[in-house]
Amino acid sequence: MAYWVEIDQDECMSSGRCVADYPAAFAFDDDELATVLPTSGNLTDQQLLRAARNCPSRAIQIFDTDGTLLE
Ligand code: SF4
Repeated sequence: MAYWVEIDQDECMSSGRCVADYPAAFAFDDDELATVLPTSGNLTDQQLLRAARNCPSRAIQIFDTDGTLLE
């Protein structure tokens, strides 16, 4: 993984899509909001982009190595 992933928990609607599709990278916290796991580095850049595009509330943010927001 070269890209960086963050979640805007203010936008997360707890749909569970990212957690279900990529359990190695995302999990719910105690408030049932998605968080990024340390193992997210095991996902490919394409998988991260797919996770962001599939988020119904656009809460998953992907940055490239320059810190530019991609999704
Ligand atoms: S897919 Fe988006 S809205 Fe759904 S749990 Fe993940 S971050 Fe939250």
